[in-house]
Amino acid sequence: MTWPSYRNRYLPAFCQAGIEAIPNKASALVIVPTGAIEQHGPQLPVGVDALLGQIYLDLALPRLAAEDPVYVAPPIQAAKSNEHDGFPGTLILHRDSLRQLILAAGRQIAEWGFRRVAVLNTHGGNISVVKSTLRELGLEQGLKVEVLSFPYEADLPEREKLYGIHANEMESSLMYATTPDMVDIAAATCCWIGSLDDPKILKPEFAPATYAWKTLDVSSSGVAGDATVATAEKGRLWADRAGEALAQRLKERVR
Ligand SMILES: [Zn+2]
Repeated sequence: MTWPSYRNRYLPAFCQAGIEAIPNKASALVIVPTGAIEQHGPQLPVGVDALLGQIYLDLALPRLAAEDPVYVAPPIQAAKSNEHDGFPGTLILHRDSLRQLILAAGRQIAEWGFRRVAVLNTHGGNISVVKSTLRELGLEQGLKVEVLSFPYEADLPEREKLYGIHANEMESSLMYATTPDMVDIAAATCCWIGSLDDPKILKPEFAPATYAWKTLDVSSSGVAGDATVATAEKGRLWADRAGEALAQRLKERVR
C-alpha cells in the first residue's frame, strides 16, 4: 500500500533521523489539515470535510516539484461542529479543544525546527477558531502562520454561491467524482435556507450581520443548497481545478 499518496511529504511517515535531516526547515511549509466529522445530508458520508482535505492534498502535492519544501502534519479530523448537533454521526469538539490541538501541533512543528505553518481548513465552522489560534501560535512561537481555505471557488449559480453552504452541489459533486462508493447520489436533496430577494435573518455567511444558525433550525435534511444537480462530471472538473489552485498557492509560498 502507498498511503497516503503523498507519503514522501507526510511527516508521520518519516523516522526521527529523516525529520532531522529535512533541509531548509526555516523556509519549508508544514500543512496542518483541519476538517470535520459531521452530518452531510442523506447522500454524503459524515467525514466529507476531513476527507476533502486529504483529497485536495492528494490532487495538489503531485503537481509540486520534488524539491518544493512542503510537508504535511497529521490531520485534525474532528473539530468544531456544534452547528450540526442533533444529527447522527456528528462528532463535536469544543472550540477550546480545537484551539489546543492546533497549538499542540504548532508547538511541536516549531520544536522540530520548522518556522512556517499553514492550516488547510475544509470546514467553515472552524474558521474563527483557526484564525485566532494561528495568530496566538504565531506570536507565541515566532512562526509564520496562515490559513489555506477552500482552494478553488467553482462557477456556481448565484443562489448556490450564497446559500449552498453545506452538503451542497460542490461537495456532493467532488465526493461523487472522487469517492463514489461513499456517496448515495440518489438520496441527494435540495433545501434553500434563504432566497436572494428575501434573505430575512438568514443572510449569506459573509454578510455584515449574520445569524448564529444551527443546521436543524433551517434544514431537516441537513442539506443547505441543491445537491440534486451534483454530477461526477462537475466533480472531476472542480477536483482538478482545486488541485491545481492549491498547488499554485503552495508553489507561490515556497519558491
Ligand atoms: Zn462540508
